[in-house]
Amino acid sequence: MSDPHAGGGDPNISFGEVGVIERLMNLRQHQQNGKRSPHKPLLALLALARIEAVGSSAIPWVEAREQLGNLLVEFGPTSTASAAQSAAYPFTRLRSDALWVLDEDVPMDRIGPLERHHVTGRFVASVEHAMKDRQALFATARALVEAEFPPSIASDILAAVGFDPDEILGRPGAAASAGTDSTQVRRRSANWRGRILAAWDRQCAFCGFDGQLGFGSVGLEAAHVRWFTYDGPDSLDNGVALCALHHKLFDRGALGLTEDYHIVVSNQFTARTEAGQRVYELADRPLRPRPGTKLPSAEHVLWHTTQVFKERVGAE
Ligand SMILES: [Zn+2]
Repeated sequence: MSDPHAGGGDPNISFGEVGVIERLMNLRQHQQNGKRSPHKPLLALLALARIEAVGSSAIPWVEAREQLGNLLVEFGPTSTASAAQSAAYPFTRLRSDALWVLDEDVPMDRIGPLERHHVTGRFVASVEHAMKDRQALFATARALVEAEFPPSIASDILAAVGFDPDEILGRPGAAASAGTDSTQVRRRSANWRGRILAAWDRQCAFCGFDGQLGFGSVGLEAAHVRWFTYDGPDSLDNGVALCALHHKLFDRGALGLTEDYHIVVSNQFTARTEAGQRVYELADRPLRPRPGTKLPSAEHVLWHTTQVFKERVGAE
């Protein structure tokens, strides 16, 4: 096996795999004004999982329409476009990043030609080749998911595309070996978590959970309102302390905040048991931080509302 640093020099050009990974990572730069656009990263993750499963990234449109469409409904921002239309965008447009090819030359974005010609998409040969190396494939999958999504839901995404999340996330240093340039990677503030937990009195801002084990909080996390991966700062006006459950539900868009800081429960969230339905009871509760603690800024709350919260779509 080749060593990425063999022969010294710039690893970005001396080693093909690193170049491929960087091109995949550049997909993240297409976002505009904090608008979430996980379409291309999710297609890339789906194709990587296929390489891992069957040795080829080739995916027929009918399967991508279903799988990618579902992923975008589940993990993308609320959209007025149909799931199939949302899937057609990256399935045709990933070609312009020189990473993806279709076996028929069909126009961008249009579902009809994809269906009529039974189009199959796949990574270009250089990506396909580089990703035959399992280490590189896992490192790329990890770097892609971590660049786009918060840690609280990275494993949900990996499982949904067909990976074993532990295999991908349980490898120390995988992101570093993906060759991501450290100047591009924003550093998370080391003490932000502690400052947020202290500011919110070491209890969940939604339900009041304040469990401790030994000398520290347990099951309590600092949640970004505007995701760190979407330029959300490590500041006191961009975080709340949440229990692990409510953090997950907040990052998945099942829970949100109104502009006057009341909790809102998405009507797409459902639960059958009393324990699950306790989430419904959070609706309309005001956020009440201790005196001196800032509420999250209106700007960050608005970002969460428009980009993460699961709005009512096409309701009756
Ligand atoms: Zn809670």
